[in-house]
Amino acid sequence: MTAPEVAIRTILVATDFSPFSEQAIRAAVALARHFGAALHLLHVVHHAGERAAALDRLGRAAEAEAVGVPFTASIAVGRPAPEIVRYAEREPADLIVVGTHGRTGLSHVVMGSVAEAVVRTATCQVLTIRLRAPAAAPARHPVEAPAPSAGERHCLVCALPSPDRICEACAARIRGEALERLLEDEKAGRRGSSG
Ligand code: AMP
Repeated sequence: MTAPEVAIRTILVATDFSPFSEQAIRAAVALARHFGAALHLLHVVHHAGERAAALDRLGRAAEAEAVGVPFTASIAVGRPAPEIVRYAEREPADLIVVGTHGRTGLSHVVMGSVAEAVVRTATCQVLTIRLRAPAAAPARHPVEAPAPSAGERHCLVCALPSPDRICEACAARIRGEALERLLEDEKAGRRGSSG
């Protein structure tokens, strides 16, 4: 039996304009390039009155990072995690990218509450991007990625040295996880075999 083909065609990155989600945008842009996927950027505001200013800001952030990658910038109104998940389902997105922390999440040691809720409730793959240590900072743990030296390129997902923005191992892992989810969904009868 041949394994079904898994394609990452649509990537959604959610940003709250924090440095954590800036790195998430960078990773999502690199992934969109790698997979030839469509890129969607989403920011969630609490009130409809904030929509216009937020869209303006999101457009500027996207233009700065997503050079050469076609993107769609959108604003949703409501609570961030449910709106992010809803947008991903509607599109549908094959992968959601979020930062591990945001403007409100510095008190969360491992994962911000929005990231955590998205991981828990999304129906597609979710990639969480941790803010990489500044170049001069020493590694805090023996298994942590070494601090990057000037001129060295690093994978935007795992931060290990890589000639590509997304290393082969991370790209393969993301594909593998998408395949696993597809097979689980098929088993549970949640989608057709064409994926
Ligand atoms: P937090 O739970 O606030 O620490 O945020 C974790 C991550 O969730 C951020 O890095 C963003 O990727 C995403 N996020 C948080 N708030 C929003 C928001 N209002 N709109 C879009 N994405 C968000």
